[in-house]
Amino acid sequence: MSIVDTRTPDPKKFLKGATGDWEMVIGMEVHAQVTSHAKLFSGASTEFGSEPNNNVSLVDAAMPGMLPVINEECVKQAIRTGLGLKAEINLKSVFDRKNYFYPDLPQGYQISQFKQPIVGEGKILLDMPDEQVEVGVERLHLEQDAGKSLHDQHPTMSFVDLNRSGVALMEIVSKPDIRSADEAKAYLTKLRMILRYLGTCDGNMDQGSMRADVNVSVRRPGGEFGTRCEIKNVNSIRFVGQAIEYEARRQIGILEDGGQIDQETRLFDPGKGETRSMRSKEEAHDYRYFPDPDLLPLEFDQAYVDALAEGLPELPDEKKARFIDQYGLTPYDADILVIEKASADFFEEVAKGRDAKLSANWVINELFGRLNKEGLELATSPVSAAQLGGIIDLVKDGTISGKIAKDLFEIVWTEGGEPAKLVEERGMKQVTDLGAIEKIVDEIVEANPEKVEQARNKPGLLGWFVGQVMKASQGKANPQAVNDLLKKKIGLE
Ligand code: ADP
Ligand code: MG
Repeated sequence: MSIVDTRTPDPKKFLKGATGDWEMVIGMEVHAQVTSHAKLFSGASTEFGSEPNNNVSLVDAAMPGMLPVINEECVKQAIRTGLGLKAEINLKSVFDRKNYFYPDLPQGYQISQFKQPIVGEGKILLDMPDEQVEVGVERLHLEQDAGKSLHDQHPTMSFVDLNRSGVALMEIVSKPDIRSADEAKAYLTKLRMILRYLGTCDGNMDQGSMRADVNVSVRRPGGEFGTRCEIKNVNSIRFVGQAIEYEARRQIGILEDGGQIDQETRLFDPGKGETRSMRSKEEAHDYRYFPDPDLLPLEFDQAYVDALAEGLPELPDEKKARFIDQYGLTPYDADILVIEKASADFFEEVAKGRDAKLSANWVINELFGRLNKEGLELATSPVSAAQLGGIIDLVKDGTISGKIAKDLFEIVWTEGGEPAKLVEERGMKQVTDLGAIEKIVDEIVEANPEKVEQARNKPGLLGWFVGQVMKASQGKANPQAVNDLLKKKIGLE
């Protein structure tokens, strides 16, 4: 791979060492399990959590004479993912055998793509707090997953579960364009978002359907690339951040002591927060890649790709831009709303025909805030888009005050119901009847002659009076009317 440094060194990201500044260089290899009912080269099911060895066809078990047949659904998903990554789609690609021996690999080789992958160069944009970063995608290729060895079930025996054997994976390789642990985490978050929007991978790292290998090296700012270490199979975004921080510090320590970095594969130990050596470059496999003679090159025409491009959903970057443009939202609010397609859709349902900024406030601050606090998902939200919209309408037309609206939200959240009806039934309407408000104002003013005297010289005390009147009206008085009347009665005008 030809490596071009696309980034300008940024002192904010430098790591301080004893002998000066260092810069991290990071590249990611992500394995994403393709969302499909059947495996890449067999009709066996891909269902997660089945009994061991229940989803295994003769092909997956590598019975002699069995031949692989490509699953078109997986090919489509890989192309759609490539399009989502704004990548070049290769109309011809080749499946190769990657040879190695391990009990969970019955064929003795993995079918993968080496020299001619289905997807070439693309990119992923990261919206970092004070800059936008473009991370290049080197390639995306299709390959089979291996089975799983189970060592903890029996004191003297190991078992093999082939349910995962042959499941389609997309390996998505980034260029070494990442320069900090935060950028690495943002990269994974964004990639997962795109995969989920496309529906090509569920992105569940805890179930292993998305796994990241992290390549880390350090160098003097802007200097030659250093020797990298690859940290295998880190299974959460938080751990990726921790593994990078630890690994960069480890390498800096070695280099500053006059040592050199050995290119090696390392493992991250989440318990200790450390990486440790798994195998060195000398122990690396020679995979003896060669084109799989059982499979023809994979070929399709541009019309096939164009049709898939037609059917692509709106992706997070485009949706964010539209939310800013169409609804006048801040980039910050737009970012929060597009994290998941479901939350973006929810917002749009609420905002339909309503004040978009007010809608965004209610969705983000009240609803998402509350869901977060209670550890709930939007899908199981006790308040629907229609109900939230109903509350917003009542605030907007002055039927209830902002404060009462929060009480109403609470009632809808805990008891359910139609907001307008609830307001009617429970007498929550804002009092705009000036006579009624004036009566309360007069009472408060009469009861506090000294404070009235003070307020004439200290207008700041007006707030205290407003508070008293609001309290007496149980929050239902129209605050503007209260303010106006108080000023008049106290003589502040
Ligand atoms: P391999 O074929 O050995 O896996 P690649 O050239 O495909 O190696 O690179 C694998 C990953 O390592 C890519 O994500 C790439 O961006 C990253 N990478 C390459 N060189 C460096 C480096 N010097 N420091 C950090 N990451 C690197
Ligand atoms: Mg690689």
